[in-house]
Amino acid sequence: MVFSISTTTVIGAVSRKRASTRTVQDGFTLAELLVVVTTIAILASILLPALSKAKATTKRASCTSNLRQVGLAIRMYADDHRDSSPSLPQPNPFGGKVQVFYKELVKGYVGLIGLSSANDKVFACPADAVYHKEPGQDFSSYRFNGPDYGYFLANVRSPAKAVLVGELTAFIGNSWHAPQIQNLSNALNTVTFVDGHVSYVRIFREGSNEPRWSEPPASYDYQWLWSR
Ligand SMILES: [Zn+2]
Repeated sequence: MVFSISTTTVIGAVSRKRASTRTVQDGFTLAELLVVVTTIAILASILLPALSKAKATTKRASCTSNLRQVGLAIRMYADDHRDSSPSLPQPNPFGGKVQVFYKELVKGYVGLIGLSSANDKVFACPADAVYHKEPGQDFSSYRFNGPDYGYFLANVRSPAKAVLVGELTAFIGNSWHAPQIQNLSNALNTVTFVDGHVSYVRIFREGSNEPRWSEPPASYDYQWLWSR
């Protein structure tokens, strides 16, 4: 009979249940804590490298997009200047080389007006934490490859190999995107070529010279000289 259960029996059952619940909860909490901590550590070790790789890929994609636009800006400048690459006015109002101050000549083609600043995102590689903030670099991560007096783009013999503009690190032998190999030959850098394509290329380095002073062997995908 259902109604024959005594009060003592019910209280006893509830107490046992409480005791048993408390025991299970105490054990569960400790074990679960260890499991959770271990699981988080394992997940972190799996996910963090993947996340940092994804972040690096995003930065490189953004840099490629920037350099494509800067290359187009130089091309548009040339279209307006009888096919000449950026050429410093004489007297030179910038007090420096065209490799840096080409930006003053072409930035209007990507919608930048007024004084240069670190906010000029098209000229800032997201992996560069230093140079695009420097007035001495005209707030640019990218350097133009050419003489102060310009050259005719149509005369370039190997437009798919001749560097038009590239990350500053390509010229000096470092890499913002693959810093583990900086200061060695084959530093990886993003550059725009005279034909307009953008590529992530290995940069040749001869001894301790900065790469810009050496033409690479034919096996490399770029060259500095536009006249070869
Ligand atoms: Zn970059």
